[in-house]
Amino acid sequence: MSKRIVVLGAGESGTGAAILAKTKGFDVFVSDFGTISEPYRALLDQNGVQWEDGKHSEELILNANEVVKSPGIPLTAPLIQKLQAQGTPIISEIEFAARYTNAKMICITGSNGKTTTTSLIYYILRNAGLNVGLAGNIGNSLALQVAREHHDYYVIELSSFQLDNMYDFKADIAILLNITPDHLDRYDFKFQNYVDAKFRITRNQTADDAFIYWAEDPVIDRELKRLNLGATLYPYGFSCPNPLPVGEDELALKGRHNVLNSMAATIAANVVGIRKDIIRESLKTFQGVEHRLQYVATVRGVRFINDSKATNVNSCWYALESMTTPTVLILGGKDKGNDYSEIDDLVRSKCHTLVFMGLHNEKLHEHFDSFGLNIIDTNNLQDAIQGAYKAAKEGDTVLLSPCCASFDLFKSYEDRGEQFMTAVRNL
Ligand code: ADP
Repeated sequence: MSKRIVVLGAGESGTGAAILAKTKGFDVFVSDFGTISEPYRALLDQNGVQWEDGKHSEELILNANEVVKSPGIPLTAPLIQKLQAQGTPIISEIEFAARYTNAKMICITGSNGKTTTTSLIYYILRNAGLNVGLAGNIGNSLALQVAREHHDYYVIELSSFQLDNMYDFKADIAILLNITPDHLDRYDFKFQNYVDAKFRITRNQTADDAFIYWAEDPVIDRELKRLNLGATLYPYGFSCPNPLPVGEDELALKGRHNVLNSMAATIAANVVGIRKDIIRESLKTFQGVEHRLQYVATVRGVRFINDSKATNVNSCWYALESMTTPTVLILGGKDKGNDYSEIDDLVRSKCHTLVFMGLHNEKLHEHFDSFGLNIIDTNNLQDAIQGAYKAAKEGDTVLLSPCCASFDLFKSYEDRGEQFMTAVRNL
């Protein structure tokens, strides 16, 4: 009898894993406690994969030889605990997919900047004419690509949740951008557990492999002193030799954080062996990814920037830091236990107006009202944009960089960013 693979969660990664497993001749079953969306149901049906949703039928799951778990399911879920107790191996989609490809793996993790850096590296490798796939949290799952396409390289964005269930996987090039507290609710509220998850990106690496990391990150620095990594180390940062083949002002991506992201990407491209002129041209022309410090339009001399992806205070810090004009900051939304004091100095030095946009703005008032800035209180996007536009003078920037999740007023940060851009274009 063929080995039974059960896939828990049928989003992009789970559906891809199921299709790959089916292609490889396994007995496959997919179970999702929520509702599987129509396109994924259709894909599973087309590939003859059995599935259920709205429940987990234990009799069809506990008999698995191996389980592929979606990163969205916490390890504390009762079903996962049962599987663990009976010793069933639980792996991530990336771990599973990597068994079936010999491609070189370039993997990026960190608390902030993953999507940007992953997309930039992919762009450089494409410009160099390499046969490269983009995977992880972006685009099609690694598993689906391994099932259907052939690539010599994959550039993969890895979250800590994906890393949690990776064991034999090895990154040929691993990049760790930074570590600041995030997702602690999934790590027993112990920061070290989250740090350990991030460092799993270096697992199984040997001297033939590269570990690229931000040398000035205090947490990374502390861990490196403690750990004995096998990989060849490539630190980068403002205190290291500058790897950039262009001046900082020539980089297409603006902001200090993007200088760091560009450094990481450059070193990765160097390790791959890409010519300097291709790297240089790519760094100068990369268009960036949506909703990350994305330029929208200039209306009567006021620049509008969409940084809707700034769902924590640290990313808003970097956005403000990159502002070169007086700024009207739109912030607010679903607060995840934020400590706004991190941006106090930048708010004081760069902003003349703050526009609060959320269902509950009390905490923002409490923190910022005493700053003596112009404060505009709103609970919808239209009022926020109108207020910001009125307060802005010619030459100013209106920056949406909310520090918060979007779920009080919007479906997602993408939805928030899209609505913002549409409203700006209609001004
Ligand atoms: P991630 O995929 O890790 O969430 P993104 O590339 O989507 O990261 O960027 C999210 C936000 O984080 C951006 O809006 C940007 O302001 C901020 N950011 C990007 N790179 C960095 C960095 N290296 N350090 C700190 N903040 C960053």
